[in-house]
Amino acid sequence: MVIKPKIRGFICTNAHPVGCAESVNQQIEFVKQQGEIANCPKNVLVIGCSTGYGLASRITAAFSGGANTLGVCFEKEPTEKRTGTAGWYNTAAFHKAAEKAGLYHKTLNGDAFSHELKHQIIETIQQDMGKVDLIIYSLASPRRTDPDTGEAYVSSLKPVGNKYTTKTFDTNKEVVHDIELEPATQDEIDNTIKVMGGEDWELWIKALNEAGVLADNCKTTAYTYIGKELTWPIYGHATIGKAKEDLDRAAAALNSNYSDLNLKAYVTSLKAVVTQASSAIPVMPLYISLMYQVMKDEGCHEGVIEQIYGLFNQLLLAENPPMDEANRLRMDTVETNDEIQGKIKAIWPQVTTENFPELGDYQGYHLDFLKLFGFGFDNVDYEADVSPIADW
Ligand code: NAD
Repeated sequence: MVIKPKIRGFICTNAHPVGCAESVNQQIEFVKQQGEIANCPKNVLVIGCSTGYGLASRITAAFSGGANTLGVCFEKEPTEKRTGTAGWYNTAAFHKAAEKAGLYHKTLNGDAFSHELKHQIIETIQQDMGKVDLIIYSLASPRRTDPDTGEAYVSSLKPVGNKYTTKTFDTNKEVVHDIELEPATQDEIDNTIKVMGGEDWELWIKALNEAGVLADNCKTTAYTYIGKELTWPIYGHATIGKAKEDLDRAAAALNSNYSDLNLKAYVTSLKAVVTQASSAIPVMPLYISLMYQVMKDEGCHEGVIEQIYGLFNQLLLAENPPMDEANRLRMDTVETNDEIQGKIKAIWPQVTTENFPELGDYQGYHLDFLKLFGFGFDNVDYEADVSPIADW
């Protein structure tokens, strides 16, 4: 079939297998060019391995660190009539490249929040790896079913405390306009913590430890976004920010509970980038477009793979990495520094629908968005008839 993007609101409902492979291969080439990461753990579990920051983590561990990687994701398989999700094709492309490079790779597709999937992963580790020495927790999900009670929780993207009015960019209608966001109820805050907080990260480590598959001195990290004043009302100080604060609690608990293994658990704060998760958050398309423009003008722009290679190379694997006041690793300090934020803040009040193309890098944002689904690559023939089927 000939596959063209089908965009509905902030999501693209199809994906291009050849374009997704191109995206994965470009990331692999990038980390190979950066060079080897000498002290990389050799048995790495990536929870949320198929897109965004998790995929970049898997690529870095495998192709810069020579690691065996076991992945968990939640993706839709293609049929003859319907394309799979981008994460499906990314995983197929990753497997192909890992196979060629002689690197162990396996991916389980299912619900990471369930006990069942955790057990399947443990069995795979026991059979194929023995133990794991690095666990990357990179899930982004709008819902979670509690594995003990069966109760389903849905997260919200809402301010906490007061109603909040702000500028946003409607990617569907391509207009800059004001939106009023109602504050979350306590239930909505609690449910968001249940979905995106630290509980499931702790359950993973507990299950792995009980099965005896955590190596001594193993490391684990979960990813967060902290941001600054412009995004605090909808992110840092909002429902999702409350869930992310719970990751700090979980990291402290993990460090204390597994000190006999000398496990190191970190929350890592990463830069805002275009991913399937971030494009769903109100205000983020506008903020990211302005931030991209400023950071590209300043020559300090980075995407997912640059951020994650930097994390592995500079912080995550270091003996005593520098941490912030809340014991987090920070890869977002260039984005959040006063100079960059000052420039974005100066542009923010001036932005209108008319001048947005000059003031912001929406072109760059939109191209990154298309690339998430395998579209927008110059060297891919989008008129060609391709099979949507790709096996792992
Ligand atoms: P993403 O949407 O690209 O990736 C989410 C991953 O989770 C995918 O691999 C998906 O298959 C998997 N997943 C979702 N639900 C699942 C389930 N029930 N079972 C198994 N797998 C499931 O998201 P992302 O933006 O890369 O986000 C990853 C992490 O990074 C999140 O914690 C996010 O908050 C954080 N982060 C993102 C940004 C950003 O700007 N995108 C910035 C800083 C931190």
